[in-house]
Formats: sequence, C-alpha cells, structure tokens
Amino acid sequence: MKWTKTLIQTLRDNPQDAEIDSHKLLMRAGICRKTAAGLFTFMPLGMRSLKKIEQIVREEMDAAGASEILMPALQPSELWRKTGRWDAMGANMFRLKDRAERDMAMGPTAEEEVTDLMTNIISSYRQLPLNVYQIQTKFRDETRPRFGLMRSKEFIMKDGYSFDVDAEAADKTYWTMYRAYERIFARCGLKATPVQADGGDMGDSMTHEFHALADAGEDAIAFCDGCGYAANTEKAERVCNPVFGKVDAPVEEVHTPNAKTIDQVAAFMGLDGSAFVKSLVYLADGEPVMVCVPGDRDVNEVKLRRYLGAKSVTLADYALVRDVSGAGVGSVGPVKPLKADVRIVADIGLKGASGCIVGANKDDYHLKNVDLDRDAKIAGYADLVIVREGDVCAKCGKKITIRRGIEVGQVFKLGTKYTKAFNTVYKDENAAETLCVMGCYGVGVSRTLQAVIEQSHDKDGIIWPSSVAPYQVVIENLDPSVEEVTKVADELEAELVRRGVDVIVDDREERPGVKFKDADLIGFPVRVVVGAKGLAGGGVEVKRRDEDKSKTRIVPVADAAAEIVRSL
Ligand code: ATP
Ligand code: MG
Repeated sequence: MKWTKTLIQTLRDNPQDAEIDSHKLLMRAGICRKTAAGLFTFMPLGMRSLKKIEQIVREEMDAAGASEILMPALQPSELWRKTGRWDAMGANMFRLKDRAERDMAMGPTAEEEVTDLMTNIISSYRQLPLNVYQIQTKFRDETRPRFGLMRSKEFIMKDGYSFDVDAEAADKTYWTMYRAYERIFARCGLKATPVQADGGDMGDSMTHEFHALADAGEDAIAFCDGCGYAANTEKAERVCNPVFGKVDAPVEEVHTPNAKTIDQVAAFMGLDGSAFVKSLVYLADGEPVMVCVPGDRDVNEVKLRRYLGAKSVTLADYALVRDVSGAGVGSVGPVKPLKADVRIVADIGLKGASGCIVGANKDDYHLKNVDLDRDAKIAGYADLVIVREGDVCAKCGKKITIRRGIEVGQVFKLGTKYTKAFNTVYKDENAAETLCVMGCYGVGVSRTLQAVIEQSHDKDGIIWPSSVAPYQVVIENLDPSVEEVTKVADELEAELVRRGVDVIVDDREERPGVKFKDADLIGFPVRVVVGAKGLAGGGVEVKRRDEDKSKTRIVPVADAAAEIVRSL
C-alpha cells in the first residue's frame, strides 16, 4: 500500500476533550475520528487494527469450539420483557419504535435474543453443548461516555453464549472460554489479568473480568501478593479485627454548628477523625436501612446489597433521611433514631467500637463517648466498605494493594436465569425435560484496541505490537522523485508482501523529519528508510519502533527483507 493512496491524516494537537494518552493518540495518529460524544469513525488505519483484533478473537473462539453467527442489533421489546430487563435496563438502553409503534431496542447485549434463538433450536441432549458468538456493534447510552473508545455509546463487542446440559458441563465450558480469553489478549500484545468480579443480580455465580492494568483504568483492582487473590474492588473482601479501648464515659451531646466535614466535627470535639462513625440511610428494596461505617471509609453498595439480600440498594433522599433519623444527612447516627425500628447494620471495622462520635439525629448536634454495643441497636456486622490499599486479605491475611485496570473482557456463568425465563429445555436420555445451563462471554473489541495503545506508547506516539499494528512495516521513501530510490522501495515492498508482511510505503514528498514524526506517532513496529544518500552509502536503514536511534542497522538491499522479517 502507498501512503498517498490511502487516507491517513495525523493531527498536530491533542483534541481538547481527550484526558488520557491513548485517547489523544487515537485521534492524533488518525486511528479514529470523532463524530459526536461517544461516537467514533474508524479511519483506514484503525479499521486495519480492529480487523486484526477481530481475527484473533475469531480464531481463538473457533479453536475453543464456538461458532460465529450474527444476530440483529435491532431487538424487539418482547424478548426483553420476558426477563424483566426491558424495565431493569433503564436509561442505559437506546429505545425506539418502528412504524407500527412497536417498542424496539438497539441491543446493549444479547442474552435474551440468543436464548430465544436457542429455545427454538434445542430439543435433545444430543445437540449439546452449543456455543455461539458474534462480533457486532452494541449500543449503550452511558451516563458518562469518555476516554474515546473506552466508554463509547456505540462499540464493537464479541459476545458469546454457551448452552450446556448441566452445571458441571457449563463449568467446563467456562474454563475453556477463560483460557481462550487469556490467549486472545496475549496475542493482541496486551497484558490482561483475570480478576474475580461481582456476579450482579446473578447471585454468587462465578465471573471473571479480564483487566488490562493501566493507571488510566476506570476500575480499581485489589491484589494480594501473598495468595494471588485478585478481585475488582466491587467484590474484594477484607478481614478486620479492630481493637477499641473501652470508654466508659456517658454519652454526651455536643453542639457542632457549621462543622460540615468529619474532620471539622472531630476537631470541634478535640478528637481525631478515626473516632467518627459515618451513618447513611439506604433504601433496600423499598425498606429503609441505616448503615454505619468508619468515618474515613466508603460504603460498598454491592457488598451491602448482597449482605441484605436485596435486589437493589439506593441512597435515601433527604426527606426520607429526616423521616428515619429526625435530622439532615450531616447529623444522622445509630443512637435513638426517630424510627426506632429501622434496621441498623455496621461494618466489621466498627465491632466493639467505643468512645466514638456519631450524629445525634438532631441538626447540628453530635454525640460523643458512644459505645455501639451499649448505646445502639446494631442488627449485624459485615464487611461493607470498599477495600483500599493496606487492608487485610480475607483469604490469607497479607496486605492488599490496589491497581487500576481497564475491563477488556468478562466471562460469566449465568446458570438458568435466562433459560428459565424462555423455557429453554432439552430432553435427556430418559426424555425428561431439563433446563439448559448458560454461560456468556464478552470481549470489548474496540476497547481492547485502545487498551493496547494505553499499555504501549511513549512520548512520541503509539508502539503497536506487531500482531495488531495497522501495518507491521513502514518503508520511508525519502526521495520519491528519484527513480532508483522508488524502485528499491517498491521492490522491497513487493518482497515483503510475498513474505506475508503488512507493509506501507510512505511515498509522500515531505521532509524526512515530518515523515519520521508520523511514523513514530502512528507507531509501525518496524521502520525502513530508503534514500539516495543511504543507498550510495551501502543500503537501507532498519529500526524497530521500540528501539532507540543507536540501534539503527544499515542493511544491504539484498538482505533487507530477511532482516525486516527478523525484526518483527
Ligand atoms: P463496564 O463495567 O466497563 O461498563 P460492563 O461490565 O458493563 O462494562 P459487559 O456487559 O461485561 O460490560 O460487556 C463486555 C465488554 O464490552 C466489557 O468487558 C468491555 O470491554 C466492553 N464494553 C462495555 N461497555 C462498553 C462501552 N461503553 N464502550 C466500549 N466498550 C465497552
Ligand atoms: Mg463486564
């Protein structure tokens, strides 16, 4: 391919809305163009990388025994209504009506669609297991589309779904997919780590997310170097054996006007913030619950929901907070709330807490010298906060460290949630009807592309891994108007193509500085320089993108193709 024949437009400046390096480079290197917030066009370079990632996904899915299909992105509401997700999806789902006023959705995922498909196909155990996947555009009306392809409104996903005879067989499929995912990301040149994640409304079912570790990642991952435990902080568990000295002094009410923050209240009382108990009112499936956590910690709503066994937990609004406690949010506490029968739960970090400060359930007042066991009716203690660096691992007792990750994929055991809703049954050997057991497996294909850039770049631009680079090699023809130089460049191109190398010739009439800058910005793995001066001096220059200038090799033209292939 010749540069002047394709469409490559690099930009000098970073787009204003780009916050992270990979987003800046995506735009500056001409990989993508923005159409509107959260909507992107893949330009020819981007398209080539995207197709390569898709091809890797395809090969690994096929090798793992899955078959490619393509279902409509436009989905009828009836399917979603069967599982209750027409409502549950809320504002995240793009909805529209057809001309007959039928409700439709632009698919954010396809569990319902595929289960409906399979319900009409599966009849006998002899057909199972079945495992299908598609690579298709998905639509999600994200609250905050940002970071380019990382969180867009429209994105390319590989979504796969398996149907097995029982939980044991489904477990086998799950681990087959898990291993396929490890290979997919490794082949894309991505360092992706599987971590345990929360199963959402699927109960305690098994799920792993694959995270590309990167400081720019949106997710926080807890790692334990002691036992190798790795979990999304939504799920990660800690243990805690707090030791509180007993304070026998009676509870004392203190007027704390204008003290808004925990530190201000504590300072007002001459105590430090660690004595502070933060109390929040939640609605768990419509029932108010008070949640107490150490003053410097944040409630993990996923853990809270699980502990309470609720379908949903949401923070109560101001009116309800007042109704339950008798005060505004800043003065809520577990001692004598207005609603005496409200259930109060507390984090394990507060077990035995004594001598603490709590809200007095009276505006601008706090209580000190509170002993939770003595003065409050705590219904139960559990691990209810988001883990943080230095917490103690629940599995082995060593210290937890926190790192950031980009979720590039997820594997999920779904059980019979969907097959029950659709009555997806097969007849076993005794002709008894049994529900199929499902799994689902997603790869964010377009997000993976950007995660590769996030993990592999420097100040000059992208450093593509050879497997997913738009072109593996750029030949810089420095003198396109000199016949001899162009002949060498073009013949080298032809030879590389014969050897199965993806190559582009930069045949632009531009200064070498401009051409080299673009090559570094786009990040082709190998750069070959062909120019009149170099040829007179003995050959062409070969250098990998991840090597510095001192590693440049001058290679005779006759040996160039072999050297380039060796460099890849
Ligand atoms: P997230 O937690 O990041 O919102 P998710 O867990 O909701 O993602 P899944 O339903 O697991 O996403 O979808 C499978 C994969 O699709 C994800 O692992 C991710 O790589 C990708 N993905 C999800 N949402 C987006 C998005 N808005 N833009 C780009 N890729 C996405
Ligand atoms: Mg996910």
